[in-house]
Amino acid sequence: MELKKREFIQIELLSWYDKGARILPWRDNPSPYRVWVSEIMLQQTRVDTVKGYFERFMAAAPTVSALAQLPDEQLMKLWEGLGYYSRARNLKKAAVIIMDEYNRVVPGDIELLKKLPGIGPYTSGAVASIAYGVRVPAVDGNVLRVISRLLAAGDDIADPKVKRSIEDQVLELLPDRAVGAFNQALMELGATVCIPNGAPKCQECPVQSVCEGHLQGIAEVLPVKGSKKERRIEHKTIFILQAQDCIAIRKRQSKGLLAGLWELPNEEGWLTKREVMDKLREWGIEDSTIHDGRSGKHIFSHREWHMISYVITIKKMSSNIPFILADQTDIRENYSIPTAFKAFVEFWNQALMNVEASLL
Ligand code: SF4
Repeated sequence: MELKKREFIQIELLSWYDKGARILPWRDNPSPYRVWVSEIMLQQTRVDTVKGYFERFMAAAPTVSALAQLPDEQLMKLWEGLGYYSRARNLKKAAVIIMDEYNRVVPGDIELLKKLPGIGPYTSGAVASIAYGVRVPAVDGNVLRVISRLLAAGDDIADPKVKRSIEDQVLELLPDRAVGAFNQALMELGATVCIPNGAPKCQECPVQSVCEGHLQGIAEVLPVKGSKKERRIEHKTIFILQAQDCIAIRKRQSKGLLAGLWELPNEEGWLTKREVMDKLREWGIEDSTIHDGRSGKHIFSHREWHMISYVITIKKMSSNIPFILADQTDIRENYSIPTAFKAFVEFWNQALMNVEASLL
């Protein structure tokens, strides 16, 4: 890109960002630790959702040292509902490494940053540029879209080679000072003006006059993205097993999807009532009543769970059923239940409230 155009984009974007940047909790006091945690939370998650989570997280773990010592159950509870739980586990693992091997300081060197669990090219670029002013690009989905449109580039951004070339273009575009602000301005433009899925708001854009995508009338069809793989559909039966004012939950395995979180007992496939009764006997539940519960769907990145449920009131059970029984307070305060099961827990909560109301 020619020098004059580059300078124009730098000046216009920085001035636009300076005047109108959104006020976000991690932007006042952008310490390396706060930038890092916020960037991890923002992966795959909307800004409005992250705000509350970020503030609660900072209250519980205000420093790298506090994060390194945070009990796993508390960490999962703080992350509950954000999804992609490996992000939280990696944050803690990285905090331990920073304490033990990095002299207790989040580094500003992108190569050191990239060695930490959960930190890739984007996050390392964001931390180094925003918190330390290092002149490196930070290219997320927003920036990929803005640059593709600015340059009217029709290459597939799902291709790693194309992504690397866009990182090179951003590096060339970066000013010598205010690098962090410039990277954030590009992301902000993508999040608020050069928006995805349909029409960008070009009339509000500070770089409209030099944007090739806009000038050529092709901004709306950019960027080009290779078609995504179809998600795998999995059917499940959820057991809402209640005994007095408690519900049965169990811990998921320590590896794989939603590892180590708590779930309602469930089985593959949509079971009939007869199959449910067989399962209950296997678990040591000897007498119970069974009713149809609600159904639900949960979408992960590569799979979808299509779920039905049964509400089972336990009357008699053996002493070693493979679950624990937790009441509403326990569930709220002590156990991290992933969003996939939340609607079923809520269904149970509601049923309990109805029973209590009918007894008044
Ligand atoms: Fe995006 Fe339109 Fe601005 Fe170009 S002019 S960067 S397409 S918002």
